[in-house]
Amino acid sequence: MTGNWAGNVTFGAGVVHQPHSVDELCSIVASASQTGRNVHATGSRHSFSTVADVTAGGDLVSMVGLDRVLAVDHDAMTVTVEAGIRYGELAAALQVAGLALHNLPSLPHITVAGAVATATHGSGDHNGNLATAVRAIDLVLADGTLVHIGPGDPRLPGAVVNLGALGVVVRLTLAVEPTFDVAQTLYRDVPFDAGVEALDELMGAAYSVSLFTDYQRDVFDQVWWKGRVGVDGVAPPRLLGAAPALEALHPVAGVSAESCTEQLGVAGAWADRLPHFRLGFEPSSGDELQSEYFVARSDGAAALRSVRELSAELAPLIRVSEVRSVAADGLWLSTAHGRDTLALHFTWVNDHARVMAFLPMLESALAPFAARPHWGKLTALPPSTIRERTPMWSDFASLRQTLDPSGTFLNPYVSRLL
Ligand SMILES: Cc1cc2nc3c(=O)[nH]c(=O)nc-3n(C[C@H](O)[C@H](O)[C@H](O)COP(=O)(O)OP(=O)(O)OC[C@H]3O[C@@H](n4cnc5c(N)ncnc54)[C@H](O)[C@@H]3O)c2cc1C
Repeated sequence: MTGNWAGNVTFGAGVVHQPHSVDELCSIVASASQTGRNVHATGSRHSFSTVADVTAGGDLVSMVGLDRVLAVDHDAMTVTVEAGIRYGELAAALQVAGLALHNLPSLPHITVAGAVATATHGSGDHNGNLATAVRAIDLVLADGTLVHIGPGDPRLPGAVVNLGALGVVVRLTLAVEPTFDVAQTLYRDVPFDAGVEALDELMGAAYSVSLFTDYQRDVFDQVWWKGRVGVDGVAPPRLLGAAPALEALHPVAGVSAESCTEQLGVAGAWADRLPHFRLGFEPSSGDELQSEYFVARSDGAAALRSVRELSAELAPLIRVSEVRSVAADGLWLSTAHGRDTLALHFTWVNDHARVMAFLPMLESALAPFAARPHWGKLTALPPSTIRERTPMWSDFASLRQTLDPSGTFLNPYVSRLL
């Protein structure tokens, strides 16, 4: 393991560990910190930013070997898992137990600890990001001891979205609910202006809605309507005048839909419909970079119009852009902290230098909306701007100082922000 999934980050680790027990992990962390080496955990390495990297020469700890479901509590309606379990495997286990998570991201390949550490989200007006399901978290601190942060602990809202900077998460307890079915219908070519004008209607049309456009034509090329069976009713025959697709589609034009979850209105388990991509396949187009920005839902229409002004500049760089909604929450580093949110995602061509050169233009267009960047994706925003747009940053910095006074879990990404 030398870098991240996309290949744009080469890790600076002196040594990479993959523990298979909590005891083994505790002694790895304790012995590294005793000799003054930095430690940082990685999940499935799907972040595009350097958030998962370790300070040069430090110890990188891959958590993918700790991937079991530990307990399902039908009374408390929770599941406790090891940090390195992937959402796809957790979802399958929950489905067997007649249970569900409230939402899933576009790909089921990422680990639970890695996803919640960056506030990874799916879509849905009433769906918080994945971190909002966390009810308790267990961390290994620099001296190799474990700390449990559970319900009612005032540190919990600060510890969940943690950028790997508080310690190594070994276990998480997540809220679950009874299983439910979802039917996925795609609509083609919703006119851009009509969609933006009726943004609330569009995003609220089902349990989870995603809009896709490459800003090349004045349309949302695809609208993914994920209706909850028994709640949302059947997919409407037309959505803002657009007709349902008659064949399965991939969000990126010209890419086979083989890797995508089942569409065409066929109902099935939440676990097999809420993600866009199937676990057994390479997610997305596999040769790409990504950025994402979060604006207040009330600014969503204006933000989309501002991005459209950049169509000519976007054209050579973009594979596709996705628009999703996320419910407000109280987690300190959540990108939806304190505001119902519209998420503007960009899948870029795999050209790091050109993408990074373009981002300041996009970020200027989104500046009037105080857009927050995704912690796990590419941004050119200066640390001072990111801090300003993260209302609870200084509380997080204090919590980090308390839990990790030696700075063992700092990496260049977090140090720069501090
Ligand atoms: C194809 C593709 C599609 C994506 N789709 C979405 C999407 O739908 N929604 C969205 O919001 N994002 C999406 N992302 C971004 C992705 O969800 C995030 O970057 C996520 O954090 C990746 O999880 P991971 O397991 O790969 O973690 P990594 O990238 O390995 O790590 C991310 C962070 O988690 C920390 N971490 C990992 N494990 C631990 C642990 N055990 N203890 C402490 N810290 C830990 C790391 O230190 C790092 O700070 C996508 C990425 C790709 C490549």
